[in-house]
Amino acid sequence: MIGAMKITFLGAAREVTGSCYLVETGDRAFLVDHGMFQGGSEADRKNRARLQFEPHAIDFVLLTHAHIDHSGLLPRLVELGFRGPIYATAATCDLLEVMLPDAAFVQEREAENSHRTRAERPLYTVAEAYAALERLRPVAYDDAVELGPDLKCRFREAGHILGAALIELWAQEGGRTHKVVFSGDVGPLSRPLVKDPTPIEEADALIVESTYGNRLHRSLAETENELTGIMRETLAHGGGNVVIPAFAVGRTQEILYLLGKLVRLGRIPAGLQIYVDSPMAAKATEVTLRHRDLMDEETRDLIAWGRNGGGRAIQVHFTESVEESKRLNDIRHGAVIISASGMCDAGRIRYHLLNNLPRAQSAIVFTGFQAAGTLGRKLVDGAREVRLFGETVPVRARICTIGGLSAHADQAGLLAWLRGFRKAPRQTFVVHGEAATASDFAAHIRRELGWNVELPGARQSFDIGASPAHPA
Ligand code: ZN
Repeated sequence: MIGAMKITFLGAAREVTGSCYLVETGDRAFLVDHGMFQGGSEADRKNRARLQFEPHAIDFVLLTHAHIDHSGLLPRLVELGFRGPIYATAATCDLLEVMLPDAAFVQEREAENSHRTRAERPLYTVAEAYAALERLRPVAYDDAVELGPDLKCRFREAGHILGAALIELWAQEGGRTHKVVFSGDVGPLSRPLVKDPTPIEEADALIVESTYGNRLHRSLAETENELTGIMRETLAHGGGNVVIPAFAVGRTQEILYLLGKLVRLGRIPAGLQIYVDSPMAAKATEVTLRHRDLMDEETRDLIAWGRNGGGRAIQVHFTESVEESKRLNDIRHGAVIISASGMCDAGRIRYHLLNNLPRAQSAIVFTGFQAAGTLGRKLVDGAREVRLFGETVPVRARICTIGGLSAHADQAGLLAWLRGFRKAPRQTFVVHGEAATASDFAAHIRRELGWNVELPGARQSFDIGASPAHPA
């Protein structure tokens, strides 16, 4: 018999970005995520490619989380005719209000810059990003969301970034219920700020990410040791500044948490002056604090400590205007400056690098992945000089990379989450990993768990078979 449900993998199939799955069941069609492809000209072509479905025939979108590789094509979808609701957690909706207009602003600027060579419309405009925000429908974690008479879903904590969810979906057809689970992006256990991913016990079909499905992360304890060492050595008398390039959403808040924790434990001397120099990071931090109920125990405890006087030991300044940002140039030592972009290819971070790279007393601390071709990658690879604002800048500052802050579970973490299933899903699809990584991880699941695993290719469809009824 024909399966009761068909899933087509439109993105993040043997690659990491462009998450988008088309689900067709009964007379309904919907998407899970509609993310941007990122990295290079091939990505741009895919972002602008003709859609594989009629946008106005899509009933709704379920969005796992705010990261642009999951949400970034929603404005284009709306612009092309989609008029249904986009369901996401309340925190994801709040983060999108910051992120989608910013993504659109970047698109507009890039189109403007490329205009001289070839007339090109931005992928979408700021106005189109706002139109997409209109379609958002916030849902609460753990509540059943009725999507139609025979269709419902539930958003559960994914432990990845604020508001991130994994999604359980139930579809009823001919007295049978099929359950599909979309992992979204799964975070590691005991990650700063957010709670741990929810264990899921059963599914007929499972779609699971594999970003780090073939490697193990350094532990958070090691990361804290590294960060402590760098801070103590750099900020001691007569030292320089610590400059931390960081993605505005998620990573910046995590670093604030870690520095707060280390000061509280007395591992970093009190009196720390931190400057968060990114308007988007300031907004994302505000959104984060608004959703304190989503934070884990440790984070809430740390915030309470900060409010009860601990805050005197650590001062966080958010610089808004360009003038305030420029004033940071005069600080020669003792400042921790957190700024975007995380890969140093744009944003205010470039001014702080201009000021601090030539100074042997300063340290630049990288905390995340640096893509090939970015300024961040050149520094991590040991460049002796770099070009900034048309100048050649010598690199004398200490360049450090701290691992262990990944927002994604490593191989052991993913397997631990999979072991939460009481019996094997009939079909498991490995997505959201580079081809070799996804294939390694799929092999690993087959070997360790004995599950039936598929590695979908781009635009490949699968029928999700009928199964015996069980209560949803
Ligand atoms: Zn993500």
